[in-house]
Amino acid sequence: MSKFSDFNFSNHKALIRVDFNVPLDKQTFAVTDDTRMKAALPTIQKILNDGGGVILMSHLGRPKEGPEEKYSLKHILSHLKELLGGKEIKFADDCIGESAIQLAASLQAGEVLLLENLRFYKQEEKGDEAFAEKLSKLGDVYVNDAFGTAHRAHASTAIIAKFFPADKKMFGLLMEGEVSSAEKVMHNSEKPFVAIIGGAKVSDKILIIENLLERATDIIIGGGMSYTFMKAKGGHIGKSLCEDERIQTALEILDKADAKAVNIHLPSDSLIADNFSNDANTSAAPSNAITDGWMGLDIGPMACEQFTNVIKQSKTILWNGPMGVFEMSKFQHGTKAIAVAVAEATQNGAFSLVGGGDSVAAVNQFGFADKVSYVSTGGGAMLEYFEGKELPGIAALK
Ligand code: AMP
Repeated sequence: MSKFSDFNFSNHKALIRVDFNVPLDKQTFAVTDDTRMKAALPTIQKILNDGGGVILMSHLGRPKEGPEEKYSLKHILSHLKELLGGKEIKFADDCIGESAIQLAASLQAGEVLLLENLRFYKQEEKGDEAFAEKLSKLGDVYVNDAFGTAHRAHASTAIIAKFFPADKKMFGLLMEGEVSSAEKVMHNSEKPFVAIIGGAKVSDKILIIENLLERATDIIIGGGMSYTFMKAKGGHIGKSLCEDERIQTALEILDKADAKAVNIHLPSDSLIADNFSNDANTSAAPSNAITDGWMGLDIGPMACEQFTNVIKQSKTILWNGPMGVFEMSKFQHGTKAIAVAVAEATQNGAFSLVGGGDSVAAVNQFGFADKVSYVSTGGGAMLEYFEGKELPGIAALK
């Protein structure tokens, strides 16, 4: 594998797997959130600046049986043109086949070609070799910049790599950033290392917690999932979220943590509500003594302080999942307090990575994205990485 920044793309046609799976307006098909498109711009720009040609391939949505108008990547053309400073973008209305071959063959240095949705072919998700080989013929260098799909062994994200020699395949800048920050946390973490795990369900986070027990010094457990742990420890949790079938798992995790001398921090108190609503009556209560009929929807003031102290003493921080129902203004204080603590620790020299779904949404919503070391763009991929799984998109290149 080559290193992207060392590679001179002059006179090369780079086939880049990007993640342009962006949300579109249902009526106008306008791009409503271009975060993923913006994330790929540095990679595209470097290739164009070097004097290379750029061929972009991506999926969009989940088409079922072949082409579907609403999932056509032609809808993003004008937005991409805008992001690239008004540059004309060529479009192949089929990702393989004659039009793609012709347009790719005639592509000049400094030009950009976008291929139609890869998932209009079932072969993409099946990781079909013949399909991957056809795609590979369109360019002479393969760049994978789609971290969001790195956990899938699809034709364009993994299988295609085998059709390029070692020096003609590489991660793009976005992928490089994602992989190096994830590796830093997983394999080269400076201690103390705190993992902050929140969100709704224990069942979604078991594998990640088990893997982190091997690496972290401290694990903070907040959000809805903390109440299963509270109940497992004999606490009274009212009608807080609880997965009774996971109580045994919670106990096993607590035992393992004990054996490995990993500190598990559960919220000492909660902001409880008499209703799952922003208009609910609220009060603070110990998380293990919640009144019948009430539920914990955020961590409480003491827990904010408790967690902040742990975070401030840490040198490596991984954050996945909110501390409460942060979508409602009444229950976002805890998640905000964590964002503040992570930002402060980062300013004092800690390395912080926010990865996976809702905690990313939270740091963006609260305006903290530029105050942490790295915000991952790949929800599912980042989760699987921290569960200790090998990601096919990474393995195919390494
Ligand atoms: P996840 O996707 O597992 O990270 O979970 C995120 C979701 O968990 C968000 O939609 C939150 O509203 C929800 N959540 C966090 N804390 C709680 C809680 N105490 N009770 C119910 N839902 C929660």
